[in-house]
Amino acid sequence: MDGIVIKAYGGFYFVGCGGDLWQCSLRGVFRHRKLEVMVGDRVAVKPLDRNKGVVDQVYPRRNSLVRPPVANVDRVVIVFSVRDPEPSLGLLDRFLVHAEAAGVQPVTCFNKSDLAGEQIPDFIKIYRDAGYTVISTSTRSNTGVSDLKTLLNQGITVFAGPSGVGKSSLLNAIQPGLRLKTGEIGEKLKRGRHTTRHVELLALDGGGLVADTPGFSSLFVPEVKREELYFYFPEMEKYVPDCRFKGCLHHSEPDCAVKEAVARNEIDSGRYGRYLEILNEITGRERSY
Ligand code: GDP
Ligand code: ZN
Repeated sequence: MDGIVIKAYGGFYFVGCGGDLWQCSLRGVFRHRKLEVMVGDRVAVKPLDRNKGVVDQVYPRRNSLVRPPVANVDRVVIVFSVRDPEPSLGLLDRFLVHAEAAGVQPVTCFNKSDLAGEQIPDFIKIYRDAGYTVISTSTRSNTGVSDLKTLLNQGITVFAGPSGVGKSSLLNAIQPGLRLKTGEIGEKLKRGRHTTRHVELLALDGGGLVADTPGFSSLFVPEVKREELYFYFPEMEKYVPDCRFKGCLHHSEPDCAVKEAVARNEIDSGRYGRYLEILNEITGRERSY
């Protein structure tokens, strides 16, 4: 019998199999080999008793996140608000690199569209043109919420984004009663107490699972090599073969097709500037090794 690990608690793994939750222990061999089983793992369960069993096998993982610790994540919904607070595009770009470097599809969601006024904010177009999936939502006017719901109706989703942008409100709008664990204050307390963070997958009525803990809130630059950074800026990719130098970092090299595309406004100069910032940070880190 196959299922997905929904939560881990008190030494047990709770596995969702066809609508039922099975309380499972691990086969001794996993403990012996120190094989970690994560929330989100697809596992085979050997039933023992009524809704009790043993995790017999863990199927290979497609990907896994560290914060929150969830495996086989299908998408990260990166939420920012159009205003209050203003979106930090520097942080958004780092989230995008993080998600794609972890092998997870990012979906960018600009919430609080009710505060944007008549005009569609520039950044929505910039990120769509760059090739990303972008949705615009408001939990106040209930705009875009059904689009978001459709996006989440299969697989595993993690929400990410700074506090105050409406992550919890969005989840609650999709399914009343569902809220994310609160960020900032709780986090500090938890870190101070060194308690393990328990992540749990919440089942949506319309299908799909959502992690109850929001994702990577840190600003650190992902573990990406500097010559690979452009992989994570999808709008650059098509120009790179025309750069004069193989291994061009699109920084100060002559005859760089990426820089020429920026000069022609085919690549957004803000995005390019943030590419350079992240590149510098990676270069600094590589030097300090
Ligand atoms: P989180 O920290 O990202 O989970 O954000 P919350 O869901 O707690 O929301 C933060 C604040 O933004 C709350 O006061 C919400 O009422 C408000 N809020 C959430 N969504 C919207 C929206 O679409 N429009 C407006 N104007 N306010 C919103
Ligand atoms: Zn170049």
